Amino acid sequence: MDRRQFVQHAAALAAIPAVGRFAGLASPASSQAKPLTVNGARLNGWLAQFDQIGRTAGGINRVAYSEADLAGRAFTKQLFAQSGLQLRVDTAGNLLARVPGTDAARRPILIGSHVDSVTDGGNYDGPVGSFGAIEVARSLAEQKVRLRHPLEVVVWQNEEGGTIGSKIAVGLMTPADLDKVARSGKTVREGIGLIGGDVSRLNESVRKKGDIAGYIELHIEQGGLLEKANRQIGVVEGIVGLRWFEITITGFANHAGATPMDQRQDAMLAAAKFTVAVNEAIRGEAGRQVATVGRLNVSPNTTNVIPGQVVLTVDLRDLDQQKIDRFTATFEKLGRDIGEATRTTFAFNQLVNSTPALSDARIMDVVASSATALGLSHQRMPSGAGHDAQEVAHIAPMGMIFVPSVGGISHSPKEFSRADDITNGANVLMNAVVGLDRVL
Ligand SMILES: [Zn+2]
Repeated sequence: MDRRQFVQHAAALAAIPAVGRFAGLASPASSQAKPLTVNGARLNGWLAQFDQIGRTAGGINRVAYSEADLAGRAFTKQLFAQSGLQLRVDTAGNLLARVPGTDAARRPILIGSHVDSVTDGGNYDGPVGSFGAIEVARSLAEQKVRLRHPLEVVVWQNEEGGTIGSKIAVGLMTPADLDKVARSGKTVREGIGLIGGDVSRLNESVRKKGDIAGYIELHIEQGGLLEKANRQIGVVEGIVGLRWFEITITGFANHAGATPMDQRQDAMLAAAKFTVAVNEAIRGEAGRQVATVGRLNVSPNTTNVIPGQVVLTVDLRDLDQQKIDRFTATFEKLGRDIGEATRTTFAFNQLVNSTPALSDARIMDVVASSATALGLSHQRMPSGAGHDAQEVAHIAPMGMIFVPSVGGISHSPKEFSRADDITNGANVLMNAVVGLDRVL
């Protein structure tokens, strides 16, 4: 909404007693009740200010543990403070604040995202959900809405370097992970020290199954589905599982001039046939599964020699684990068949295997009904990209809210989401939190 609409809207809302609105929302019987709304101008103002931090000629560069990341975290800490949220930095370096609930026995509902970026990225991937969560907590307090559950706002550290902060929080970090070098050139171990954590006490930040009542993350879509379908809100069904293969195709390197066409064992030809076959297999079935042959190392990679060996990679993703298993078997069979036809051999090596993280049905329902109550068009969809929510899913019910990415672009300086869409997303988050507080 524009400034004028916003002022009108805020005035209209101010005329309604906060308690009445909350009570109305809390009771399914009175569906006429006006849904809650955040201060969208304030939220988008924060994002505009944040756009100055880590901006370079190439884009936003707030890679984890860099000077710009530290500046971004300092800005975020200020937002916590000015929003009346008591900040705590856990031993992993995650930023946290807890608003007590009315029922001391209840586990917290968590909302949040991250503020670090990729190299030459944009200003929306992460900050929208982080600042959106701060804005929701602040608006709930301003509108005197008390939840039964404690509400925790969390900004996970180093999402782009492998969901490090959330991984630590669910106890999935290994000592070897700590020695991984982040894009800033610092190891995760060094980085955690730098941002106020303590690697020797990481276990204090670990939460167990049952410690969190639910987690909702607002995020930009990073794809073009919503824009293409002309929908305002994505109700995320889950984060797709991912399998990476490295496949070594072995033929025989020989003279490109002296070897007749019917006597060749051309690994490149086999790789080409396999690449096409993978694409056709994936597209030959209804669904949202995707597979990509993304890397090809050809040997000897010379103009006048028949390629003797090709190493290629396949990236396979879907929300359904059985489908991933089935396509894995299909690809292996394609390798055997093409190998036979081209007199080459295919050797499969699995590099990465992450299982799909499915959203909680109750959270999807409260997100969808919040969007409906706000008059926003929405659709259910998978997330093709990884998020902190996939880590939290190991120990708690989770869900995500997507807002459109213009042109479907992200991890790019061209990444952009409209202010109205961001406000819509935060409004959905606010009502979803209240709805979840009721159903859990
Ligand atoms: Zn992100």
